[in-house]
Amino acid sequence: DEEEADAVTLPLPSSSKPHGDNVWGDTSYFAGKKKIQSFFKLPNGEWELVKILSSSGSESLISLSEGKALMVKNDCLVQANPEILDGVDDLMQLSFLNEPSVLHNLQYRYNQDMIYTKAGPILVAINPFKKVPLYGDDYIEGYRRKSIESPHVYAITDIAIREMVRDEVNQSIIISGESGAGKTETAKIVMQYLAALGGGSGIEYEILKTNPILEAFGNAKTSRNNNSSRFGKLIEIQFSETGRISGAKIQTFLLEKSRVVQCAEGERSYHVFYQLCDGAPRDLREKLNLRNADEYNYLRQSSCFSISGVDDAEQFGILMEALDVVHISKQDQENVFAMLAAVLWLGNTSFTIIDNENHVEVVEDESLTTVAKLLGCSCEQINLALSTRKMRVGNDTIVQKLTFSQASDSRDALAKSIYACLFDWLVKQINKSLFVGKRRTGRFISILDIYGFESFGRNSFEQFCINYANERLQQHFNRHLFKLQQEEYIQDGIDWARVDFEDNQDCLNLFEKKPLGLLSLLDEESTFPNANDLTFANKLKQHLHSKSCFHGGRGKVFTVNHYAGEVTYDTTGFLEKNRDFLHLDSIELLSKCSCSLPQIFATSMLTQSEKPVTGPLFKTGAESQKLSVATKFKGQLFQLMQRLENTTPHFIRCIKPNSLQSPGVYEQGLVLQQLRCCGVLEVVRISRSGFPTKMSHQKFARRYGFLLLESVASHDPLSVSVAILHQFNILPEMYQVGYTKLFFRTGQIGLLEDTRNRTL
Ligand code: ADP
Ligand code: MG
Repeated sequence: DEEEADAVTLPLPSSSKPHGDNVWGDTSYFAGKKKIQSFFKLPNGEWELVKILSSSGSESLISLSEGKALMVKNDCLVQANPEILDGVDDLMQLSFLNEPSVLHNLQYRYNQDMIYTKAGPILVAINPFKKVPLYGDDYIEGYRRKSIESPHVYAITDIAIREMVRDEVNQSIIISGESGAGKTETAKIVMQYLAALGGGSGIEYEILKTNPILEAFGNAKTSRNNNSSRFGKLIEIQFSETGRISGAKIQTFLLEKSRVVQCAEGERSYHVFYQLCDGAPRDLREKLNLRNADEYNYLRQSSCFSISGVDDAEQFGILMEALDVVHISKQDQENVFAMLAAVLWLGNTSFTIIDNENHVEVVEDESLTTVAKLLGCSCEQINLALSTRKMRVGNDTIVQKLTFSQASDSRDALAKSIYACLFDWLVKQINKSLFVGKRRTGRFISILDIYGFESFGRNSFEQFCINYANERLQQHFNRHLFKLQQEEYIQDGIDWARVDFEDNQDCLNLFEKKPLGLLSLLDEESTFPNANDLTFANKLKQHLHSKSCFHGGRGKVFTVNHYAGEVTYDTTGFLEKNRDFLHLDSIELLSKCSCSLPQIFATSMLTQSEKPVTGPLFKTGAESQKLSVATKFKGQLFQLMQRLENTTPHFIRCIKPNSLQSPGVYEQGLVLQQLRCCGVLEVVRISRSGFPTKMSHQKFARRYGFLLLESVASHDPLSVSVAILHQFNILPEMYQVGYTKLFFRTGQIGLLEDTRNRTL
């Protein structure tokens, strides 16, 4: 038994090959011996829970699942928790907070459809990819009455409501995770719980109906998720003084416009296009000259038209109904569909070369005439907007003809802009419908559904913006967590200065410093007409090489050391995406059209954001000026952070258990990578540097008091506790004695538990 005790205090594993000189054997010999659990790294990198049969020096004999025994080096083993801790509903209850223990605990629960687990203050949600019987009125009622206690989105939402009422402070529920992890579904589950509180005027129903609308226009099938949101969303649910839902406000971030004109093989453009093509009633089809989806270039290029299990025509019906609910008039709805059709037909327009300099004009065919009809302008106006560019030279305006590729680009830019403006307009209309009125005396709960940290084989401008946003959110998260811990320690009178805390300020500075930060340098380079992606990359390397979070690479790449890991960005397309030009010719075209939406385009195109944000303005033509995409995004992000700063945050981290979108498959490596990225292990790490295990003096004395070898003079819980600590030689730096509780560093209670179990 002495030897077994040794086996429990193994060091963390090195990543070395674990199968050096290991010997296979038979376990039957050891049957009946006391066993201690440990994790052993299999050749495929997965961790298996094994029993340590015996241990000596640097090696241990372990038993594997198939009844095999194996002699392994001790540094291939990681300490597991005692069995009584299997499947605990808060990872903080684990004595050993190492990665395999966390992975094992989540998997143990996931296998029993317990997809929610707390990790201290945060809720971890693992996507079940199937219907799980955890939702609906009975559950909502159970959580409201607190008759159900296991971790749940409902539970965290309930806490938010109670804290809003009790503390009179606005709340936020911040949902993050990678694509397909379940953020949007989770946000809907939050909304469902809130809606069940009722509002009175049917406003809660209206709020729920914004989901099918925003999903139709802002979600698409990607390789990772059949219903992937291509924008970030903050929805603020407002409450009256009596605690009932009174209204809502939606803000969106960074819609992926490029998908309208271009999408990868096997993916789709926005759902609404397919819904329209499949589901439009006959008279609408005729009015818009609609065809099947496969007759439009923009939709045809990825050779993917349908999603298994989804009926686009039926979804179109749901969409129209939802548009009714949020009070978008039939006339406006028809205008919206006409704009969608215009985008599709625009993609079918083609060019002919008219001279030997490769200049083009638009072919006058059905596509062109249909676009003209839908937009309410002449074919010639479209031709001019797409195939020429007006330039001002001094006081004169000259007209330049465009080449084939320039004209194609301006056509695609026009299509993207129409779509993006349409999206913004819709959000505005929805907000009008959900607006409470001028007197907003009540409180609110904000729900943030935003793309998590991304790291792909090739990372572009989009990942750059997304990861920047995640750095900001991570800082918000760290600060909050830090504050929570600090408060508890101070309350119990312990010396909390010994808790280490690391932040990501360096990385944020790398992005935000002026004039020598990533964003400033990007904007500066974007204003130079002769700059290109390579000059931009070189500029970064020239100015930022000394920064600890930055590494230059060869050619057009650079690497940022994010809190969640290193990401190498390829600057190809950065400048163009940041400038996001729409030529004045196109803007003019849109403002002159007689279709009933030009004011939308004109206003949203020319006035940009509601609040003035300082940053470089790009001339998109002779008169109009426009913020860079990165600057606009940064402004939105600052506003967002300001709004969140004044709320009590609640964090939900969504985890995708496999890349197949299938139920019942748990890939340890994939889960681990996300746990690291979305900060779950960060919480665990921060906790490890503090005193995460807490136990009241009473409980501690009761639980371990019988192990005392000598009697204690005084029998009060504190004296008994101190005697236990002394007898077990728990080092002074491993614990703190508070007014009411004892605080321990990780692993300490585990040792006591082991002794207790052996003795019992
Ligand atoms: P994200 O917004 O993080 O990209 P989604 O919320 O769109 O991911 O989830 C992707 C898919 O996973 C959903 O379409 C649904 O099929 C499934 N899913 C997510 N959460 C749940 C859940 N709680 N129960 C059942 N299925 C879910
Ligand atoms: Mg989503």
